[in-house]
Amino acid sequence: MKEIDPAIYGSSWFAATMSGSRSRPRLTIDIDVDVCVVGGGLAGLTVAREVAQRGWSVVILETRRIACNASGRNTGFVLPGFAQGMDKIAARIGLDHARELWALSRRGLDYVHRTIRDGKLAGVRDGEGWLAVSKHDEPERIAADVDLLAGSFGANVEVWPVERVRATLKSEQYFQAVSYRDAFLIHPLNYALALANAAEADGARIFEETPALSMDPAGVRKRITTPGARIRAAHVVLAGNTHLGALMPRLAATLLPISTYIITTAPLGERLAGAVTYGGGVSDTDWADNHYRIVGGDRLMLSGRMTTWSGNPKRYVKGLAGDIARLYPQLGPVEIEYAWTGMLGNAVHRMPQIGEMSPGLWVASGFGGHGLNTTAMAGELIARAIVEGDDTWRLFAPYQLVWAGGLFGRAGAQTRYWTNQARDGLARKRDAWPVTLPQFAGAAMVNATMRFLSSIAQRLGAIAASLTGRRAN
Ligand SMILES: Cc1cc2nc3c(=O)[nH]c(=O)nc-3n(C[C@H](O)[C@H](O)[C@H](O)COP(=O)(O)OP(=O)(O)OC[C@H]3O[C@@H](n4cnc5c(N)ncnc54)[C@H](O)[C@@H]3O)c2cc1C
Repeated sequence: MKEIDPAIYGSSWFAATMSGSRSRPRLTIDIDVDVCVVGGGLAGLTVAREVAQRGWSVVILETRRIACNASGRNTGFVLPGFAQGMDKIAARIGLDHARELWALSRRGLDYVHRTIRDGKLAGVRDGEGWLAVSKHDEPERIAADVDLLAGSFGANVEVWPVERVRATLKSEQYFQAVSYRDAFLIHPLNYALALANAAEADGARIFEETPALSMDPAGVRKRITTPGARIRAAHVVLAGNTHLGALMPRLAATLLPISTYIITTAPLGERLAGAVTYGGGVSDTDWADNHYRIVGGDRLMLSGRMTTWSGNPKRYVKGLAGDIARLYPQLGPVEIEYAWTGMLGNAVHRMPQIGEMSPGLWVASGFGGHGLNTTAMAGELIARAIVEGDDTWRLFAPYQLVWAGGLFGRAGAQTRYWTNQARDGLARKRDAWPVTLPQFAGAAMVNATMRFLSSIAQRLGAIAASLTGRRAN
């Protein structure tokens, strides 16, 4: 495996192929600005760029380096929508309201598209389309998904029947798919680095290795303390994702930290065409497992597994390579050259946290595994709210800041994931019938135990949440 300085961007294929990375200074003198953004990921960068374009003074404080966390380590699928499904969103807030949110999510996707096109960012957009593939033969369910998305939300989606799916994803495990024709793929790290340059060109100032240590958000001028200097600002935007921690523990406690793991193979040459010829992104679960794409012409990049702690990515290489082998045995043994991890933040409702917590104190986080369009959307919404008084962000008001359940929440999420994995394994064994009775019974017992543990963890989380009644705002 290739070793890149993992301290900053992880040993990732994106880090190995990044361009335009440069370090920025620490903040060493006290300053006074209109807007202080905490966090130099995609959310913070987009807010700052949009504020600067509107002529206000703005700084970004970043604990380490720009895009060193999720924003520079993700798989680069730019999709419409949210981590939460549109059916669930509509069921909760009504169809008309859900349509407005869908349109905003599309605006986020368009924002990324325009930024790449107008900035002439070479090599950043490197794939088209997204297939959400089913591992079960369920034409009615796929047709219903497409009807809902196209009919109710005007999404540019279509059904791919089994034959079409298997012509480009040559795996017997796959059946029908929903094809998202407007989705596209990017090199996320190079996109984020270019966004930082664009924000600076518009007048934003970025300080790296400058953590915001404490904050007094009361009053007209808010005060933020960093190791070397203090800042006074009329507005503060908290865009620190799961890393905010001690700066505002109540807010940090509303996010469930989820680490997922990514591998990239060595060049596969002509072998790849015998397995995958689709140039877009592919996902075959709603969960963490099996999101993949081609990079560098003939390598496969695949993400999967999840832990509610940050694990060593090398430990997951074998399992993830096994996923590739199960999907595409025709590839034979593949060498893995890169393995890394990234941490995303999920709110309980799986929707972003966007809004004003108290006068002049804003939050932009909780984008989950669906952050490329939604960070762009949030950045624009919050900048418009701050500078122009626009209140479109209130469309997210139904999705409040809810305590994520602490240790119970983490235990519940982890157990639910393991349960799903065990169920998947069980289904595979059933498909590979005949299995021996002890094998089947063993898998069924694991499944039942996982479900039992999961329900206990969920209940404890719910009880704890109702006892504390904790809301962060
Ligand atoms: C493995 C993986 C794959 C993914 N794949 C996709 C995908 O294909 N498509 C998609 O749409 N989304 C994907 N996502 C999700 C997406 O990457 C995230 O939702 C998005 O990048 C979040 O951006 P952010 O700016 O909110 O957070 P981050 O990128 O985490 O940035 C927050 C920054 O704030 C800084 N910070 C925190 N506290 C402080 C402080 N007190 N002072 C100063 N700085 C601070 C942190 O150091 C950090 O750099 C994926 C995520 C992961 C982890």
